[in-house]
Amino acid sequence: MKLQKTAASAAVILALAATAACGGKEGSAGDEQGGKTDEKALPTYKVAKDVKVDSSVLKAAQKRGKIVIGAKADQPYLGFQDQSTKKYSGFDIEIAKMIAADLGFSEKQIKFETVDSGAREQAVRKGDVDLMIGTYTINPERKKQVDFAGPYYHAGAALLVRKDEKKITGPETVKGKKVCSIVGSTPLQEIKKPKYGGKVTELAKYSDCVKQLVDGQVDAVTTDDAILKGYAADNPKKLKVVGKPFTDEPYGVGMKKGDNALQKAVADALVAHQENGDYKKAYDATLGKSGSKFQEPPALEEK
Ligand code: GLU
Repeated sequence: MKLQKTAASAAVILALAATAACGGKEGSAGDEQGGKTDEKALPTYKVAKDVKVDSSVLKAAQKRGKIVIGAKADQPYLGFQDQSTKKYSGFDIEIAKMIAADLGFSEKQIKFETVDSGAREQAVRKGDVDLMIGTYTINPERKKQVDFAGPYYHAGAALLVRKDEKKITGPETVKGKKVCSIVGSTPLQEIKKPKYGGKVTELAKYSDCVKQLVDGQVDAVTTDDAILKGYAADNPKKLKVVGKPFTDEPYGVGMKKGDNALQKAVADALVAHQENGDYKKAYDATLGKSGSKFQEPPALEEK
């Protein structure tokens, strides 16, 4: 891990040493650490026993003794995989753990699979993952292919730029600028609109876009503010987030279409953990540490 030798970095090293879930350098870009989960402040989730839900997806998971959850691996504070321990951490990972617990699976019985934005619908449809929990915006196009429970959080698109950037202040200022975003993501669709006039680079991974930004190959990265704030928090000397949120990104848990019993069970789990305080506790220990303000959990969509 490459860290500059400053007092701030020394503090970071101490903080990293105190947590088991610190991120490795790979899988992210530049000097960042992948989000510093406050392990001790995380809730513990009581694993339900003898769960009976009339869901084919869940029954198959019970038979195999593991639930497979699609996650992100390069979003500090949200869904991040430490390349040395292989452990995943972040707010979405906690959402996954709380839902899994209510479905009868302990943390050890969760198999996280990294799924990039452009591969999510297919992973769910093919049954490669039982649930997809990774900054997954609920929208009408995706609903044609998968079902969602949620939303459990609202993000909005913003821009990540280099710290010394003065000209880019929002989407209306990217004309002629090189902007990187992610294949299969909703903010990419937005920034490609001719009205913005940016030169758009499309990559598969957030970490690749951020690396290009740090290296000067692009001028900005656009995606959800929650994701960008995590990168900026981990690399505050080089990066900053600009622009008011210019899209609405309601995050949902994706699953196979038509498994209504599973959809209800997941929705019930989200509500239960919001009501018992786990949601806020988990948020404060993960995403809350990157500077994203806590929001009261949104009301869940009716089926
Ligand atoms: N929430 C947006 C989406 O679902 C962007 C973040 C992501 O790529 O996961 O497309």
